[in-house]
Amino acid sequence: MPGKNILKTAPLSPDEVILREELRSDVQKLAGEIGERNMWHYPQLNAAADFIENSFSDAGLRPRRDTYEIRGQACHNIETEIRGASPEIILIGAHYDSVFGSPGANDNGSGVAAMLALARKFAGKTGKHTLRFVAFVNEEPPYFLSDEMGSFIYAGRCKARGDKISVMISLETIGYFSDASNSQTYPSPGLGIFYPKVGNFIGFVGNVPSRSLLRRVIATFRKYAKIPSEGAALPSFIPGVSWSDQRSFWRLGYPGIMVTDTAPFRYPYYHSANDTPDKLDYDRFALVVSGMEKVIEDLYKL
Ligand SMILES: [Zn+2]
Repeated sequence: MPGKNILKTAPLSPDEVILREELRSDVQKLAGEIGERNMWHYPQLNAAADFIENSFSDAGLRPRRDTYEIRGQACHNIETEIRGASPEIILIGAHYDSVFGSPGANDNGSGVAAMLALARKFAGKTGKHTLRFVAFVNEEPPYFLSDEMGSFIYAGRCKARGDKISVMISLETIGYFSDASNSQTYPSPGLGIFYPKVGNFIGFVGNVPSRSLLRRVIATFRKYAKIPSEGAALPSFIPGVSWSDQRSFWRLGYPGIMVTDTAPFRYPYYHSANDTPDKLDYDRFALVVSGMEKVIEDLYKL
């Protein structure tokens, strides 16, 4: 429509252009080449695990598989750690399985690509705290919200070891944006009164005990990021609030937040065969990840 001359996306810096191409290539690898990856597509699930492990190694990081079994089949969470001066842990996680019937480009190839890009950015940089990057297996149904969910097994082991996780950030479906009116919906009609109806922003969601963490993350993100953001600390029973790996950490008393484009409340290809790499908006996706780099810098205290 002529008349409104709005610049939809801020220009990318040269570093962000490089980042965008990294993100594009990793989403293509996971969702385009490997494709659907879950317990029904077990070789593909393992191919994704290998790819993540190799990506960590290529960045000069040492990956570790944290393995458990479901009905005799090995499932792997994959982690790497950058030890800082203090044992306090900042954990950045994303699930790498895709839902049955979907190649999972946005859900959650986008989160994994972002996690890998951030791991590359921080490799070799020592901060005050310890930084951990984790790719979780089995987030999607039937494991979703169950005790066999990869992140729940992982968080339980952290708890048993006494890991001091002060921040958990779940990168969950973060690459789709729209400038169309009414492209954004909400789990509860009441929220639509307070939040935008155009799906051009990135969302930050916390449970009520994670409110101060959420506030700090959003403040830093808004200071640097060139893309709009919205945040809410909500009771975890509101649909959508618990819909990713941060819930596993909440269950064990760790503070955590989810970064998301809101998935089913915006993305028309959510959990479908059409969740393919071409649907993502890589410019805005890169702006989200470069903003998250600043957020982690602040939390990690470089
Ligand atoms: Zn997901």
